[in-house]
Amino acid sequence: MSAITPPGSVRQVLTALQARGHLAYLVGGCVRDMLLGVAPHDWDICTSARPKEVLAIFPHAEPTGLRHGTVTVWQGKRAVEVTTFRSEGSYSDHRHPDAVSFVGDLHTDLSRRDFTMNAIALPPDGLLVDPFGGVDDIRSRLIRCVGEPERRFEEDALRMFRALRFAARLDFTVEPQTLAAIFKLAPLAGTLACERVRDEVEKLLLSPHPELLGTLLSAGLLDRYLLARPEDGSLFGCIALLPRKALPRWCAAAVILKEAGCIASVPDFLGSLRLDNRSIRCSADAAELLAEGAAKTAVEWKRQLKDRGVEPVRCAAKVRDALYGGRSDRALAAVLKSGECFSMKHLAVSGDDLLALGLRGREVGDMLNFLLDYVITFPAYNTREVLLNLANQVNDD
Ligand code: ATP
Ligand code: MG
Repeated sequence: MSAITPPGSVRQVLTALQARGHLAYLVGGCVRDMLLGVAPHDWDICTSARPKEVLAIFPHAEPTGLRHGTVTVWQGKRAVEVTTFRSEGSYSDHRHPDAVSFVGDLHTDLSRRDFTMNAIALPPDGLLVDPFGGVDDIRSRLIRCVGEPERRFEEDALRMFRALRFAARLDFTVEPQTLAAIFKLAPLAGTLACERVRDEVEKLLLSPHPELLGTLLSAGLLDRYLLARPEDGSLFGCIALLPRKALPRWCAAAVILKEAGCIASVPDFLGSLRLDNRSIRCSADAAELLAEGAAKTAVEWKRQLKDRGVEPVRCAAKVRDALYGGRSDRALAAVLKSGECFSMKHLAVSGDDLLALGLRGREVGDMLNFLLDYVITFPAYNTREVLLNLANQVNDD
């Protein structure tokens, strides 16, 4: 057992439940992370107490997921999720249990959980309850289903994504039978809401092993979003070179798929996965910039910045470096640091100045555009005096 121990506020919740005669255990991700020596990001408790009883014990408790038996107990600023032991009925839609029922014993609750490493419970006395060999699997760095993998994936197809996402995050291997079941049952992923698939894929992309996207695609888990599966599953390793941010990593994944002929367009692919509009637009612009070729001079960078805005140009530079090598990101940073003007906002004259010169309607916009192009080429001339003179001259011609 690692040196990580639950904070006092979490232990208080466990002991308060026990003091009233209920069973109470830490469970799931927090126990797994403690065993791995990683600080858990949240603390989940499972208990024999019914939600009503939990609400009665703790004054600062909210019924956040009563249908699933979950009550959030607030201990100062810390939220502790307390969930009643439960079993799940059948899963006719491969997503949600048809019925959830509360049970009195821990073993039933642990057996509904997805993987052995997530089905370990830790009571306040510190004696682990590990009926499915989760501790051994954590030691061997294996992701293994609790029970029969095919049955568990038929119940909930999202578990197939979770298996690969945990493998990517924890640097674990998916145990062979579990992996074989994923390859076999991948078509069931078509029943999942696109938003849930997006969230899982995003977590995988942000992990230390985004290259496992290749396994996800080879298994067929994203077939619904593709024209064809990539022939080469090892194309995605370069995503790890990008900063751990969603936008450049999604953009890189989509560009790789487009280049491999697996999707028709970057924005359509990201749209089908329900990414937000801003990310879709930015990735689409970045993909076009990548197809255009790298900017070679400060003037070319500034033209791109003027036409597309900072975010897509920055995203394209990072993705270009990761996919094809080079130092685009550094070159762009130097241009941005130079403070040279590439947007109307930093032009030394405004529309009002041009109205005062007698320009009207469209003339104003056209002139601002002309002046901006001028200072992009001649940055030293971004002064009021020069630009007003220039506007006067051009207007007189
Ligand atoms: P993370 O650190 O990503 O939060 P976690 O293990 O806490 O990892 P959660 O999604 O928060 O993952 O779920 C908490 C626990 O609930 C899991 O550890 C697992 O025991 C159980 N669980 C979650 N989703 C499923 C599922 N789809 N099928 C079965 N059990 C699940
Ligand atoms: Mg969690």
